[in-house]
Amino acid sequence: MNIHEFQGKAILKAYNVDIQEGFIAETPDQAIMVAGQLREKFGSEYFVVKAQIHAGGRGKGGGVRLAKSVGDAGRLASEMIGMKLVTPQTGPAGKKVNKVLIAQDVYYKGESDIKEFYISILLDRKSSRYTIMYSPEGGMSIEEVAEKTPERIFTEEIDPGLGLQFFQCRNIAFNLGLTGEAFRNMVKFLNGIWEAFTGVDAQLLEINPVLKTSDNRVLAVDSKVVLDDNALFRHPDLAEMRDLSEEDPVEVEAGRNNLNFVKLDGNVGCMVNGAGLAMATMDIIKLSGGSPANFLDVGGTANVRTVEAGFRIILRDPAVKAILVNIFGGIVRCERIANGIVEAYKGIGEIKIPVIVRLQGTNAEEARTIIDNSGLRVLTASTLQDAADKVKEVIGG
Ligand code: GDP
Ligand code: MG
Repeated sequence: MNIHEFQGKAILKAYNVDIQEGFIAETPDQAIMVAGQLREKFGSEYFVVKAQIHAGGRGKGGGVRLAKSVGDAGRLASEMIGMKLVTPQTGPAGKKVNKVLIAQDVYYKGESDIKEFYISILLDRKSSRYTIMYSPEGGMSIEEVAEKTPERIFTEEIDPGLGLQFFQCRNIAFNLGLTGEAFRNMVKFLNGIWEAFTGVDAQLLEINPVLKTSDNRVLAVDSKVVLDDNALFRHPDLAEMRDLSEEDPVEVEAGRNNLNFVKLDGNVGCMVNGAGLAMATMDIIKLSGGSPANFLDVGGTANVRTVEAGFRIILRDPAVKAILVNIFGGIVRCERIANGIVEAYKGIGEIKIPVIVRLQGTNAEEARTIIDNSGLRVLTASTLQDAADKVKEVIGG
């Protein structure tokens, strides 16, 4: 699960990691109010107004702007809230900005003495370990650093059984070119982000830039945190950070119905049980000249409700010219799926595109009788090849 920058920073702060302080605002008036609070609490004169969307590269797209007064913060917030922000990570459609973070400007005091670093902690599946990836070239995109100056990216592997060791923190601070107080603060910073990373069961924690200030503090100016969905049951407070407005509405609806759904850009919708059969079904659609419009695994507990939800979700896509339902009845009994299809037709109204149904396994005969007797415009198929041929026929492939 992805969360916003301000939420990631709140987590870091809870683990005693120094951050660029700020408050969230949803209206220009709130922006003015919280900028005033920042001035009172931290003596900030300048502020940065930062669009809160689930995408990076905001600086490049005009989503991070400097305000030179409280009033200015309000003005920039009014320009940013409601805008469609396009960054190198959002795609051309951009993302709507619903909230901005009004943060203290942490750069302006001693421009010459400040340094920006890149630091991330990630799960490396290849080595089955955690890795701290870091670079003295912070602030810009790490992909760019990797391409132009790969020797400026360092890694430190962490044994999950031992955790982050003191010598590793010293090694990192040394490679980042720090000495004295800044060195000590970096070691503390690294320990803090490691505690945060493991404490919230994150799978990625990326801070770019980490800033060394002119007075040698080390703080997180940005934060990108990806939480492990499988561990969210342990963190009900973090689960509440989910922002559905940032997610694809169709995938959200699928998730709500316990459907495993991934949108693709073909013309044949598929409804299948089991991921392996779903992959095979997509292959056979390709072989028959079509291309799959989605991956949809209805799972082992499919019932009338999930089948109907599946149809609704597939039918939302105007590119879909036919639907192939391919179910192997093991735990799922085929007649339940057949009833689900009949009910879905009733619930949705007439489905105008051809639907090809292949039901095999437990109670398949019974299922076929239900469909044949329903009077619906549904083509039944017995084998996978038969199903593929029928798909070919209806889409004219
Ligand atoms: P991203 O572009 O989405 O990664 O957003 P960041 O939070 O990393 O901000 C982008 C850039 O804005 C940073 O690399 C900084 O150069 C700049 N920036 C962020 N905070 C401040 C600040 O407090 N003052 C100034 N002057 N610049 C800032
Ligand atoms: Mg950044």
